[in-house]
Amino acid sequence: MSSMNELYRQVIVEHFKNPRNKGLKNTDEYTKLRLKNPSCGDDVTIEVKIKDHHIEEIHHEGTGCSICCSSASVMSEVVKGKDIEEVQEVIEDFYNLIKGEDVTDEERLDEAMAFGGVAQFPARMKCAILAWKALGTILAGKSGEEDV
Ligand code: ZN
Repeated sequence: MSSMNELYRQVIVEHFKNPRNKGLKNTDEYTKLRLKNPSCGDDVTIEVKIKDHHIEEIHHEGTGCSICCSSASVMSEVVKGKDIEEVQEVIEDFYNLIKGEDVTDEERLDEAMAFGGVAQFPARMKCAILAWKALGTILAGKSGEEDV
Protein backbone atom coordinates (compact mmCIF):
# COMPACT_ATOMS: atom_id res chain seq x y z
CA MET A 1 0.00 0.00 0.00
CA SER A 2 2.82 2.42 0.82
CA SER A 3 4.45 1.78 -2.56
CA MET A 4 1.12 2.69 -4.17
CA ASN A 5 1.10 5.95 -2.23
CA GLU A 6 4.63 6.64 -3.38
CA LEU A 7 3.62 6.00 -6.99
CA TYR A 8 0.69 8.37 -6.64
CA ARG A 9 2.90 11.02 -5.07
CA GLN A 10 5.29 10.71 -8.00
CA VAL A 11 2.45 11.21 -10.50
CA ILE A 12 1.44 14.46 -8.78
CA VAL A 13 5.01 15.79 -8.58
CA GLU A 14 5.76 14.80 -12.16
CA HIS A 15 2.72 16.59 -13.60
CA PHE A 16 3.48 19.66 -11.47
CA LYS A 17 7.03 19.82 -12.83
CA ASN A 18 6.13 18.94 -16.41
CA PRO A 19 2.52 20.00 -16.98
CA ARG A 20 0.80 18.60 -20.09
CA ASN A 21 -1.34 20.76 -22.37
CA LYS A 22 -0.33 23.93 -20.54
CA GLY A 23 -0.74 27.31 -22.24
CA LEU A 24 -3.88 28.80 -23.77
CA LYS A 25 -4.45 29.27 -27.49
CA ASN A 26 -7.09 31.96 -26.91
CA THR A 27 -8.75 31.55 -30.30
CA ASP A 28 -12.47 31.62 -31.17
CA GLU A 29 -12.53 27.82 -31.43
CA TYR A 30 -12.16 27.53 -27.67
CA THR A 31 -14.54 28.03 -24.78
CA LYS A 32 -12.73 29.36 -21.75
CA LEU A 33 -13.50 29.53 -18.04
CA ARG A 34 -11.43 30.90 -15.16
CA LEU A 35 -11.92 29.73 -11.58
CA LYS A 36 -10.24 30.89 -8.40
CA ASN A 37 -9.91 29.23 -5.04
CA PRO A 38 -9.28 32.12 -2.61
CA SER A 39 -8.58 29.81 0.34
CA CYS A 40 -5.36 28.62 -1.29
CA GLY A 41 -4.68 31.27 -3.94
CA ASP A 42 -5.23 28.84 -6.82
CA ASP A 43 -6.21 30.50 -10.09
CA VAL A 44 -6.85 28.28 -13.08
CA THR A 45 -8.20 28.84 -16.58
CA ILE A 46 -9.39 25.95 -18.73
CA GLU A 47 -10.12 26.23 -22.43
CA VAL A 48 -11.62 23.46 -24.55
CA LYS A 49 -12.28 22.91 -28.22
CA ILE A 50 -15.32 20.73 -28.68
CA LYS A 51 -15.90 18.98 -31.99
CA ASP A 52 -18.50 16.30 -32.79
CA HIS A 53 -19.43 16.01 -29.09
CA HIS A 54 -15.83 15.24 -28.22
CA ILE A 55 -13.15 17.21 -26.43
CA GLU A 56 -10.76 17.66 -29.29
CA GLU A 57 -8.31 19.95 -27.49
CA ILE A 58 -7.97 21.13 -23.91
CA HIS A 59 -5.48 23.50 -22.35
CA HIS A 60 -4.96 24.99 -18.91
CA GLU A 61 -3.12 27.97 -17.51
CA GLY A 62 -2.77 29.50 -14.11
CA THR A 63 -0.98 29.58 -10.81
CA GLY A 64 -1.52 27.62 -7.65
CA CYS A 65 -0.30 24.88 -5.38
CA SER A 66 1.12 21.61 -6.65
CA ILE A 67 -2.18 19.76 -6.10
CA CYS A 68 -4.15 22.25 -8.19
CA CYS A 69 -1.68 22.61 -11.07
CA SER A 70 -0.91 18.92 -11.23
CA SER A 71 -4.61 18.06 -11.18
CA ALA A 72 -5.26 20.35 -14.17
CA SER A 73 -2.49 18.65 -16.12
CA VAL A 74 -3.69 15.13 -15.30
CA MET A 75 -7.27 16.09 -16.14
CA SER A 76 -6.28 17.41 -19.56
CA GLU A 77 -4.78 14.05 -20.43
CA VAL A 78 -7.62 11.99 -19.00
CA VAL A 79 -10.45 13.81 -20.81
CA LYS A 80 -8.83 14.66 -24.14
CA GLY A 81 -10.50 12.85 -27.04
CA LYS A 82 -13.42 11.64 -24.94
CA ASP A 83 -17.12 12.04 -25.64
CA ILE A 84 -18.68 14.90 -23.62
CA GLU A 85 -21.14 12.68 -21.76
CA GLU A 86 -18.33 10.34 -20.81
CA VAL A 87 -16.28 13.31 -19.61
CA GLN A 88 -19.17 14.35 -17.37
CA GLU A 89 -19.16 10.85 -15.87
CA VAL A 90 -15.40 11.05 -15.37
CA ILE A 91 -15.78 14.40 -13.57
CA GLU A 92 -18.45 12.88 -11.30
CA ASP A 93 -16.14 9.98 -10.59
CA PHE A 94 -13.30 12.35 -9.74
CA TYR A 95 -15.53 14.22 -7.28
CA ASN A 96 -16.42 10.90 -5.66
CA LEU A 97 -12.75 9.98 -5.45
CA ILE A 98 -11.89 13.28 -3.75
CA LYS A 99 -14.75 12.82 -1.29
CA GLY A 100 -13.43 9.36 -0.45
CA GLU A 101 -16.41 7.63 -2.01
CA ASP A 102 -16.53 4.72 -4.45
CA VAL A 103 -15.80 5.43 -8.11
CA THR A 104 -17.48 3.56 -10.95
CA ASP A 105 -14.46 3.23 -13.22
CA GLU A 106 -10.93 3.47 -11.80
CA GLU A 107 -9.32 2.59 -15.10
CA ARG A 108 -11.04 5.47 -16.84
CA LEU A 109 -9.78 7.90 -14.17
CA ASP A 110 -6.29 6.61 -14.95
CA GLU A 111 -3.61 8.85 -13.40
CA ALA A 112 -6.31 10.97 -11.71
CA MET A 113 -6.55 8.10 -9.20
CA ALA A 114 -3.36 9.60 -7.75
CA PHE A 115 -5.49 12.27 -6.06
CA GLY A 116 -7.45 9.75 -3.97
CA GLY A 117 -5.28 10.59 -0.97
CA VAL A 118 -6.67 14.14 -0.96
CA ALA A 119 -9.81 12.73 0.68
CA GLN A 120 -7.80 12.67 3.93
CA PHE A 121 -7.09 16.42 3.66
CA PRO A 122 -10.39 18.32 3.39
CA ALA A 123 -8.57 21.66 3.10
CA ARG A 124 -7.01 20.50 -0.18
CA MET A 125 -10.19 19.21 -1.80
CA LYS A 126 -10.93 22.53 -3.52
CA CYS A 127 -7.37 22.55 -4.89
CA ALA A 128 -7.81 19.12 -6.44
CA ILE A 129 -11.22 19.75 -7.99
CA LEU A 130 -10.72 23.34 -9.23
CA ALA A 131 -9.74 22.46 -12.82
CA TRP A 132 -12.39 19.72 -12.98
CA LYS A 133 -15.03 22.11 -11.77
CA ALA A 134 -14.00 24.63 -14.44
CA LEU A 135 -14.32 21.98 -17.13
CA GLY A 136 -17.68 20.79 -15.78
CA THR A 137 -18.94 24.37 -15.77
CA ILE A 138 -17.88 24.83 -19.40
CA LEU A 139 -19.68 21.61 -20.36
CA ALA A 140 -22.77 22.99 -18.59
CA GLY A 141 -22.69 25.82 -21.11
CA LYS A 142 -20.91 28.60 -19.22
CA SER A 143 -17.78 30.63 -19.82
CA GLY A 144 -16.07 33.60 -18.27
CA GLU A 145 -14.83 33.98 -14.73
CA GLU A 146 -16.12 32.68 -11.40
CA ASP A 147 -15.10 32.17 -7.77
CA VAL A 148 -15.64 28.90 -5.96
ZN1 ZN B 1 -4.33 24.83 -3.73
